[in-house]
Amino acid sequence: MKRAVGSWMLFAFGLFLTVSAWAGELRLEPEVIAPGEVALARWMAGGPTAGELRFNDKLIPLAPGEEGGRALLGLDLNAAPGDYPVFLRRTGGTEQKVGTLKVTAKKRPEEHLTLPKAYVSPQEPAVLERIERESRLLQKIFAVRSEETLPTKFILPVGDPMGSPFGLRRILNGKPRSPHAGVDFRSPRGTTVGAGAAGRVVFTGDLYYCGLTAIVDHGDGLYSIYCHLEHLGCAPNQQVAAGTPLGRVGSSGRSTGPHLHWGIKLRGDRVDPISLVRLLDGKKS
Ligand code: ZN
Repeated sequence: MKRAVGSWMLFAFGLFLTVSAWAGELRLEPEVIAPGEVALARWMAGGPTAGELRFNDKLIPLAPGEEGGRALLGLDLNAAPGDYPVFLRRTGGTEQKVGTLKVTAKKRPEEHLTLPKAYVSPQEPAVLERIERESRLLQKIFAVRSEETLPTKFILPVGDPMGSPFGLRRILNGKPRSPHAGVDFRSPRGTTVGAGAAGRVVFTGDLYYCGLTAIVDHGDGLYSIYCHLEHLGCAPNQQVAAGTPLGRVGSSGRSTGPHLHWGIKLRGDRVDPISLVRLLDGKKS
């Protein structure tokens, strides 16, 4: 009899532990996004929480903080609208649904452009081989999810007005091309380009489409890309802070005039840099 009471108490205590282990609340900011946008997930548990979120078939480590943990969620420009569940996963693999991120369709503007034919559809084998080689190199860079801490603040790389927005559907010489995977700024040639956030430079070089390019790793699969520069002022492995000069605006690569093309990759997804700035501008963790 004594033994039965003991195991019942043990069971009740186990139940208490199970419930308390999951005590917390997920806050999503914002609660609704469009494909190609980001949201901040905060797990509020009253104390640092180790674990990860599972979202859109990706495991995302929580950055522990005093209130619990936080993570940046995002979806590719081409993601389907709908309800995306968010799961909290503990060490050992047990998980529980803790929230839902709503994703609604967004109508993107359209632009018709006429460019020299050789630029629109390169045919030369050497050029095609170069494009293919650079595409593989970029995929390899963006596939790395380093453990550097996710930034709590993201700022604009230049102070100039925006030209082509993110997601712009471009029709080149009458044919639809892939949508604009970044934002363009109408900066004069020579304008200093600053890093959007703290991180580590992981690539500098000359790419066929992007021209002179710098790429910064901000941790856990978050990268910022700066294209068409006329001068590079940073080097691979250099640690940068938000605003550290990376180079100067130019018109290198496939470009019709001086401007800065700024792109963001989040765990392989193309996301809107402006949505990231809006979410993290001046915010503390
Ligand atoms: Zn662009």
